Amino acid sequence: MYSYAYDFNKIKFVIDENSYFQIIGLQIYNGDKKLSIKDYNIHEKTMEIILNEEINIKKVSSLTHEDKTLTINYFPLFQSEEFNKRFYYENELGLFYSNISSTFKVWSPVASTVTLLIYKSGDTLVSENPHRFKMDESKGVFSIAVKGDLKGMFYSYEVTAFEKTNIAVDPYAKGVGINGERGAIINLEETNPLNWETDTLLFTKSYTDAIIYETSIRDISMHPESGITNKGKFLGLTEINTKSTKNISTGLDHIIEMGITHLQLMPFFDFSYTSVDEKNPEKYNWGYDPQNYNVPEGSFATNPYSPKCRIKELKEMIFSLHSKGISINMDVVYNHVAFHNNNNFEKIFPGYYLRRNLDGSFSNGSGCSNDTASEQKMMRKFIIDSVLFWAKEYHLDGFRFDLMGLHDIDTMNLIKENLNSLGRPIMVYGEGWNLDTPIPIVSKAIKANARKTPEISYFNDFIRDLVKGNVFDLYEQGFVSGKGKLESDLKEVISGTPGILLSPEQSINYVSCHDNSTLWDKFQDSNRYDSLTDRMKMVKLSNAIILTSQGVPLLHSGEEFLRTKFGEHNSFNSSDAINALNWDLKYQNQEVVNYYKGLINIRKSHPAFRMTNYHDIQNNLEFLNNMPENVVGYLIKNNANKDTWKTIMVIFNANKYSTWITVPPSPWNLVVNELTAGLESIKLIDSDRIEVPGISMYLAYSL
Ligand code: CA
Repeated sequence: MYSYAYDFNKIKFVIDENSYFQIIGLQIYNGDKKLSIKDYNIHEKTMEIILNEEINIKKVSSLTHEDKTLTINYFPLFQSEEFNKRFYYENELGLFYSNISSTFKVWSPVASTVTLLIYKSGDTLVSENPHRFKMDESKGVFSIAVKGDLKGMFYSYEVTAFEKTNIAVDPYAKGVGINGERGAIINLEETNPLNWETDTLLFTKSYTDAIIYETSIRDISMHPESGITNKGKFLGLTEINTKSTKNISTGLDHIIEMGITHLQLMPFFDFSYTSVDEKNPEKYNWGYDPQNYNVPEGSFATNPYSPKCRIKELKEMIFSLHSKGISINMDVVYNHVAFHNNNNFEKIFPGYYLRRNLDGSFSNGSGCSNDTASEQKMMRKFIIDSVLFWAKEYHLDGFRFDLMGLHDIDTMNLIKENLNSLGRPIMVYGEGWNLDTPIPIVSKAIKANARKTPEISYFNDFIRDLVKGNVFDLYEQGFVSGKGKLESDLKEVISGTPGILLSPEQSINYVSCHDNSTLWDKFQDSNRYDSLTDRMKMVKLSNAIILTSQGVPLLHSGEEFLRTKFGEHNSFNSSDAINALNWDLKYQNQEVVNYYKGLINIRKSHPAFRMTNYHDIQNNLEFLNNMPENVVGYLIKNNANKDTWKTIMVIFNANKYSTWITVPPSPWNLVVNELTAGLESIKLIDSDRIEVPGISMYLAYSL
């Protein structure tokens, strides 16, 4: 049994299957005031009620039926046209600082009072009586201008809504104190590193030109063997010439050496202090629990107490990566927040920003009971404002949306449209999984709706599971690990997975990422009776497929040197000992590192692997017939996509034994075999019969 308002004078009341409506005694209260019913009609178990007067949204409403009293859920009312007509606010919100005065604006049409609190300290544990300024309301926006230079001070909002009073941090805050518990009053211009204005904005023509490498700020430098001074910090990624004791290049140098184009960094917005205490960041957490969306995480800064430090050091990191030709894709988590209680959105405007089911309960598609409501216009605006802020202020080059399937299509397309208006190509892609959340399936930003979001790409779980086996089944094998009968599926993914996508640019091809087992650990489980050598061959072949398939390749950092998390498949709060990149493994597995480097080099030098539409792929890519079982071979012909190689031949042999294959007669220059990969010719093949070793790839070209 539940009830919700869907307009200022319209309510629906839904009863259980076995109950009946009793009109006598049915009462509706708005605060203490009884509302009179103008009309009602009943359809099966739903009663539609029209009221004689409007609901005052600053007060809770309730419905009494027989002996039960229900709180009326306002979430659908907040979506109504009338609500948006009255209260949607299109201008900027947050803090507007100048050295003469500071203006503060916060939106909450349901709040009865909002008071601005100004503090000297950014630490809530320091006892202090704040200065209090009562804010004035106009159409749901509370604002105040405070004279004087407030720089260096901190602020919060004391919000009273539905008779509860909470202290909240401004969701639009661009700086915060320690642990993100107070907004900081800063002059953003003072956070720019020297010559920031000369920071090069990098250019990627099409998504398929990108080679994405996923890592975390903490994992890349934290290992004792990293040779990096600022371990676990933004600054760790500004250090060059870092080496392990075995003289292996690490961190930034390793990334440059791999030749990737885009670094995808796991959350670096301010995440919850309950996950990682900024005062003492001993505890490890990936950070998929957003606290302040527009502020960098403090535990990655050398001084988390200083609001400017975290901003400046992040910009230094970005500056440094850009100067090495590396673009940065930010992992953003707008789909849910850290907690629904103690959440700033909920404290400021309860019942608006987090998605509710019709019965008023929290939508739980994320598994965290606090999905955000991108379909609510002011939440949509918040997400768009936030993404634009990061792109502009921090010069970011792309955004990877966590659980993008919880967002609606309109929001995602508007984000891309707004980013396009900045006049440079910015990547937008995400996890388009279809999760259980109350928005219509046709409106969800899921892979099945990819055609409705033409400029947004999707993680391709089909290629991931096809190559190495299902991620949720420890023991399931894939093409490279011996499952068999996957040849025709493999042809699909080699061709950029046409069908539900509009173009190969929409396919983010990968075999592993931070979620689930590492690639090496997967084979440790699924192929535990095979030799170490065979498992290593599987690792090589997996990304040989990813790096040559049509689409956008993404690598998980460390898979190039057989990264292990010791079988831990969800290491979100495991220790550094599990998560940190172990540079000794790079020393031990240089063969695989070099193999991947060679493949990356080939992909970057040869546009034939980076076609941007299915038409070209269909015209130029031709599969070889009469291949043995578990072997797939193909040609890319006609100097495809302006390639200097006239014809490219690629053969994947997933059998454990070597296999003889008939190929078109031509002198072929072999550049990839089971051992090495690169642009240099290994040998000339002038026979139409070649032997391809077990679990390996051959790649050859003819001019
Ligand atoms: Ca934090």
